[in-house]
Amino acid sequence: METKLRTDITIREICEGFVYNEFEGKGLFGWSGKLTIQPEYQRNYIYADGKKDVAVIKSIMNEYPIGLIYFVKTAENKYEILDGQQRITSIGRYLTDKFPVFDDKGVAKYFGGLDEGEQERIYNTPLTIYICEGTELEIKRWFETINIVGVPLNKQELANAIHSGPFVTKAKEEFSNSENSNIQKWSAYINGSANRQDFLRTALEWVSKAYIDDDNINAYMSKHRYDNNINELKTYFTSVIEWISSVFIDVEKEMKGLCWGELYEKYHKKPYNPTEVSKLVQKLYDDTYINNRKGIFEYILGGCVDTKLLDVRIFDDATKRKVYKAQTQEAEEKKKSNCPLCALGKDNNKVRIWKLSEMDADHITAWSKGGATDIKNCQMLCKTHNRAKGNK
Ligand SMILES: [Zn+2]
Repeated sequence: METKLRTDITIREICEGFVYNEFEGKGLFGWSGKLTIQPEYQRNYIYADGKKDVAVIKSIMNEYPIGLIYFVKTAENKYEILDGQQRITSIGRYLTDKFPVFDDKGVAKYFGGLDEGEQERIYNTPLTIYICEGTELEIKRWFETINIVGVPLNKQELANAIHSGPFVTKAKEEFSNSENSNIQKWSAYINGSANRQDFLRTALEWVSKAYIDDDNINAYMSKHRYDNNINELKTYFTSVIEWISSVFIDVEKEMKGLCWGELYEKYHKKPYNPTEVSKLVQKLYDDTYINNRKGIFEYILGGCVDTKLLDVRIFDDATKRKVYKAQTQEAEEKKKSNCPLCALGKDNNKVRIWKLSEMDADHITAWSKGGATDIKNCQMLCKTHNRAKGNK
C-alpha cells in the first residue's frame, strides 16, 4: 500500500461542490465531485450536536489543528474518506450555513454572516491529509490499525504530520538528523533516537514545559507552525544541555532520561561548585544504602535535603525484631517505656510497653549525617515519636 501526505489542499477545495442530505445523512460528495465523503463502512454523521461540530469550526477559526484526515484513492481522481468524515462534514455544513457558532458575547455567527476576511481565512486553511492507495483488504487492515490499535505513528511523528510546515522542517533538520554531531552529547541525558523524533520531542517538552501539561507541545507547535526559524527552541534546548554539563562534570548513566528541562527551570539560577558537586556525586554513588541513583542529581541540586529522592535502604525485619526484643527486655527491667523517647516523658506513656506493630525503626544518627543502616544505628520508636523525628 502506498501513502502520500498532502498539506496543500485547502478547505475551499475540499468543500467545493459540497452537498449534505439532511434526511439520509449519507452519500455526500466534495472536492468538486472527486471525493465521496461517506463511504459505506463509515458511521453516520454524528457531529451535529452543536458541540462537536462547533468545536471543529472553532478550532479552525483559532488556527488549532483538527488532526489527520485519511483519504483512499479508489480510481483516477476518485477518493473516499477513510477517516475524517465527521470533521469534513462539519466544515461543509458550516460553510453552507447549516449551523452557527457563537462568539464570546453569545452572538450566533453563520458562515454567511462573517466578514470577507474571516471567510477567506477559513477557506484558505490547509488540511493535513494522508492519501493511500491499495487493495480493499490492505485498506481495511489499515483502517483497523488507525482506529483500533491506534495510529501507527508515535506521538511526535504524528504531531509533526499535523503541524507540518516550515517550523517542523527546520526542527527536524536540527533534532532528527542522525548526522548531527551533537547527538552523542545529547544521548548522555536523553533517551531514544533521532529518527524516531525523541530529541525533538524532548526539546519541545522542555521549551513548552510539557512536564506541567502534556498539551503544551501541540499548542507550541501550532503557535510556531509557520515560523521560519527555530531559534527559541534551539536556544532553550542548548541552554539546558550546557547547564547540565556545567553543573555535573561527570556523565553517569542514570542521568539519561531525567526531566532535565524541569530541573533546569527549578535550579539554573542557583550557583553550584562543579568540583564539589562531582565529589558529592561520587560519594553518593559509593553509598550502598541508596536504592535510587536517578534521584542523586535532584537531591544535590536541591541542597542535599530531600532524602526521599534517594530511596535510602531501610532496616530489615530481622534487625527490627532483634532491636525490639532487646529494647523491650531492658525497658521491662527498668519499668520504663520501650520507646526511649516516651520513657523521657511525663505522661502515662512513660511506662508503656508498645507492641512491635506499634513501633518503627529509626536511624539513631540520620543517614544524611553519615548514620549507617545497620543494627548498631537502629532504635525502635513508637510511631508518633518516629514520625515527629522524621519531620525534623
Ligand atoms: Zn514514643
